[in-house]
Amino acid sequence: MTDFLQLIPSAEGAPALLIGGEAVPATEYEDVTDPATGAVVAAQPLAGNAEVDRAVRAAGAAATTWAGLPGRRRGAVLLRWAQLLRENSEALARLATAEMGKPLGESRGEVERAASEIEYAAGEAARMTGQTIPGDLPEALVVTERIPLGIIAAITPWNFPIVSPVRKIAPALAAGDTVVVKPAEEAPFSALAVVGLLEEAGCIPGAVNVVCGAGPMVGAALVEHPGVDGISFTGSTSVGRRIAETAARRLAPVQLELGGKNAAYVHSAVDLGRVADEIVAAAMQCTGQRCTAISRVVVENDLADELVAALAARVDALTVGPGTDPGTNVGPLVSMRQQHTVVDHVQRGLAGGAIRASAERPVPPDGPYVAPVVLDHVTPDMAVATEEIFGPVLSVLRVEGLDEAIAVVNGTEYGLAASVFSTDMDVALRFMRGVGSGMVHVNHGTASEPHVPFGGVAGSGMGAFSIGDTAKEFFTRLRVGYLRAPAPA
Ligand code: ADP
Repeated sequence: MTDFLQLIPSAEGAPALLIGGEAVPATEYEDVTDPATGAVVAAQPLAGNAEVDRAVRAAGAAATTWAGLPGRRRGAVLLRWAQLLRENSEALARLATAEMGKPLGESRGEVERAASEIEYAAGEAARMTGQTIPGDLPEALVVTERIPLGIIAAITPWNFPIVSPVRKIAPALAAGDTVVVKPAEEAPFSALAVVGLLEEAGCIPGAVNVVCGAGPMVGAALVEHPGVDGISFTGSTSVGRRIAETAARRLAPVQLELGGKNAAYVHSAVDLGRVADEIVAAAMQCTGQRCTAISRVVVENDLADELVAALAARVDALTVGPGTDPGTNVGPLVSMRQQHTVVDHVQRGLAGGAIRASAERPVPPDGPYVAPVVLDHVTPDMAVATEEIFGPVLSVLRVEGLDEAIAVVNGTEYGLAASVFSTDMDVALRFMRGVGSGMVHVNHGTASEPHVPFGGVAGSGMGAFSIGDTAKEFFTRLRVGYLRAPAPA
């Protein structure tokens, strides 16, 4: 057994679900494979409706005790959890790389990022503050309190198998909620491993439960469960829309982090090479499988040739290979299906008139690898300009002036992240205010920070932004109190 597999909770010699503080064996299992090699990582335990129901009940049974702890006590548990993530960083990173393929250095960074987000949430546990409001009645006090929303369903994708569950669990626990997590079927073990560390951190049994399995079955069962008070989902826009519809029927709040088609507008630069560095890093990290990856470059005509050459040179210098190889910059895609999708997008772009600026080169044949691509002369009507690809593909669109740039950037159903590179702050500010994106970066790529609100608008998200002090807007609800001393006798 490789060391990292020991982090996965097990029962009867196989990986197990986590329900009510117990490792619960499943009746059915499904192999999870390493995309880099096709080798089996481990057999994932599959939950049925009975396990989903049991997990929601376990979260319900833990709710009063967990919510009744002082915020600072809940925060202390979270701080110990962050420390345990760091202590187990190497094993967690290897586990994430084994199940979804990203380079090991990125996985190590993901563990550190998750620990930082937990530490921020730990502080927030003591800051669930309300307001005092001057009332109309004499000698009365009007207050608002933040109270836990209740039982949270956390449904997460495979591209950040450690950060995604943590980004939901940590603020939920800080707010006094309890949680049932449904990780992605492609990469469930990272979530099981990080939740497995929670008990050691001093969390009460049942405060966080994990059920694994297919989205349309286990995920849908969780969303439909009447005991679930709120749903925090990260994944595709189509599934997010369906979840919002289901939740709306029983008026359960949702927090949705969905897809993106993020653009970088290059208006002017002191050093175009530095701009290309920023764009390529933001585009190719996680093999382009980040919801905030830059996938479009919108560039002024007079800078386009030089920028495209700089982008292509950098992209061609990236090493494609297994995530465990220390020289790898770009790992495999998560699956053969994803590889077909990416290749198909590129071919359709080329057939539609785009021109490949990067080199065609061989990639390892034994996995879903794709050499990073820069497509030049893309036009706004092409699918490569509007649809989320989730792969290492940059589409370059040439424009003339800020107004056309803003129109092109806004020409998709998404509104997650955007960048603008300009030496003119007036242009940067007008871009920031003109684009329909939840997050805008001026003179750097689309990288977020662990204490700053994160989210999108339109097809990219709904509900309170996660991370930062906005997370509590989803994970708590308000209670208003009108307080007045009894009338004197
Ligand atoms: P991706 O394309 O990134 O895999 P998905 O939206 O398909 O994104 O999946 C994100 C998460 O949502 C996964 O955990 C998946 O199992 C889950 N999921 C997929 N379909 C549904 C559904 N109908 N109801 C609830 N969860 C779902």
